[in-house]
Amino acid sequence: MKDLVIIGAGPAGISAALYAVRGGAKTTVIAKDGGALEKADAIQNYYGFPEGISAKELIARGVKQAANLGAKIVRGEVVGVGFGQDGYTVKTAETAFDAGAVIIACGVARNAPPVANLARFEGSGVSYCAVCDGFFFRGKRIAVIGSGKYAASEYNVLKDLAKSAVLLTNGEDPAFDAQDIPVNKRKLASLEGDGAVQEVRFADGSALPVDGVFIACGFAGAFELSKKLGLELTGGKIAVDEKRATNIPGIFAAGDCTAGMQQIAKAVCDGMIAGTEALRYLKANG
Ligand SMILES: Cc1cc2nc3c(=O)[nH]c(=O)nc-3n(C[C@H](O)[C@H](O)[C@H](O)COP(=O)(O)OP(=O)(O)OC[C@H]3O[C@@H](n4cnc5c(N)ncnc54)[C@H](O)[C@@H]3O)c2cc1C
Repeated sequence: MKDLVIIGAGPAGISAALYAVRGGAKTTVIAKDGGALEKADAIQNYYGFPEGISAKELIARGVKQAANLGAKIVRGEVVGVGFGQDGYTVKTAETAFDAGAVIIACGVARNAPPVANLARFEGSGVSYCAVCDGFFFRGKRIAVIGSGKYAASEYNVLKDLAKSAVLLTNGEDPAFDAQDIPVNKRKLASLEGDGAVQEVRFADGSALPVDGVFIACGFAGAFELSKKLGLELTGGKIAVDEKRATNIPGIFAAGDCTAGMQQIAKAVCDGMIAGTEALRYLKANG
């Protein structure tokens, strides 16, 4: 049986891992942090904790439980999912994992940069996916907005296609060795253009002429990973059926990155179904 890779170690990803690993799937869970629960305090509405439980302890217990059962837990930031020799390849900034099935359980990303007119130019020069849209900007002037590893990986996809490419970090220091990447650290104000984006304006009043702007703030969330794979979205969330299967065979999604209540109980239920169905898919597909 091929491997299962789960992106996310929140309640959805860990619950999926528990079901998959107990069913015999070689399971790797990749997570960059503790997800939404890292921001939460005490949890009082989850089954089985009459005195409540600290959110951080709940995450730690889940991760330990999955690891004890045999799941491999890897700390890392996924920057993309593509098609590979076993079916899929899940890429972090450092390495790549082959998988016969993938469960996306990466929660809700809140990654939009505070730049005026951004939404107005989406699809008219503003893109969220270098692999999907880079081709349309061949020989053009491109800016990538972001300062993390994800921004660097998007820049690397674009740099050879574009006439020029620069990273705009909006006042941040790059979170990686940026020796080979042109970086502009000025604070961003707005995007301007007539119909399509034509320049980036900075808070100091200066401007950078561009033909395309790629948004790569923070990390790759469900939206960005979905765009790269061609997954269907509904209301900004990953569209899944009752088996938590997406429109691409072997790719499942669970938890806050899919529609419905953003609650632990719902994420755990989604994870149970996605883990069980991913296991069934792997058994049926070698
Ligand atoms: C302040 C706050 C309080 C809350 N209080 C409650 C409460 O009292 N009760 C309740 O039921 N719910 C509560 N919630 C909601 C609850 O936390 C979420 O519904 C739940 O955590 C969703 O689980 P999930 O697994 O879908 O996503 P998350 O828990 O957000 O986990 C997402 C995982 O994906 C990983 N990830 C994302 N992108 C990447 C990437 N590119 N590469 C690698 N890893 C990635 C993250 O590191 C994380 O491990 C609260 C949420 C917040 C923010």
